Order: sequence, then C-alpha cells, then structure tokens
Amino acid sequence: MSIFTKIITGEIPSYKVAEDDDFIAFLDINPNAKGHTLVVPKKEENKIFDLSKEAYSSLMDFSYRVAKALEKAVPCQRIGMSVIGLEVPHVHVHLVPTNVMSDMQFTHKVKLSKDEFVAIAASIADNFE
Ligand code: AMP
Repeated sequence: MSIFTKIITGEIPSYKVAEDDDFIAFLDINPNAKGHTLVVPKKEENKIFDLSKEAYSSLMDFSYRVAKALEKAVPCQRIGMSVIGLEVPHVHVHLVPTNVMSDMQFTHKVKLSKDEFVAIAASIADNFE
C-alpha cells in the first residue's frame, strides 16, 4: 500500500485541498514553492501512462480544476505541472505555483510552518469549484 493510499484511507494526515469519489488533492509535504499541490487518483496505480485513456483524462480534468483554484489562492506567474513518481510509486500530478524556472526543480525546496500549510490548503479549498 502506498503512502498516498494511506492518506486516502485517512491512516496518515494530509493538508487536503480537494476531493471527489475518484481523486484527492493535498499539499506536498516538502514543497518546491508555497502551494505545491499533488493530485492523486484514489485507485492506486504506479505509472501515469499505465492508466486507461479515460482515467488519464479524468485525472487531467481534476488537475485543471485544482490548478484554477491554486492560481486564485497563490499569486504567481503560472502553474507548472510535472509528473515524476520516482519517490512515491502511486500516480500523482505535481502542480507548482511558479515564478522562476528553479521553482520547477525538485531540488529547490521551501520550508513552511504547520500554520502556513493549514492556511494555504484552506485558501485553495475555498477557491475549488
Ligand atoms: P515523486 O514520486 O518523485 O514525484 O515525488 C513524490 C512527492 O511526494 C515529493 O515531492 C514528496 O515531497 C511528496 N510526499 C511524500 N510523502 C508525502 C506525504 N506524506 N504528504 C505529502 N506529500 C508527500
């Protein structure tokens, strides 16, 4: 069972920003930038291109909605999107509020307090439609 499945089942906590029957979005615990969010299908699958076309499109649709909320909640030049999965073998889309190219480099990290995580998650959730 992946660490993200444990988040989905509530076994471990997360700073959740959006959820429906098939997807969940929560803040990355080690963010590249303030508001860095992960969008995750609830059905555990390792690699994104092993998803069916339908599941892939649904993931992109949900990610689009989360990105729109993120853009409203966190001022930035644009939302960067990336899929890697080398650390957690459970499909996830990284959405990163980006101002400079280094915000999309996964060695570039910012430290946030618990209060900051809580506040950002609430603000993204408020803007999610
Ligand atoms: P990757 O699999 O290379 O796309 O990276 C996995 C991402 O998941 C990293 O950016 C981690 O900071 C993030 N991550 C790992 N564990 C957690 C967790 N418990 N809650 C939120 N984000 C996590």
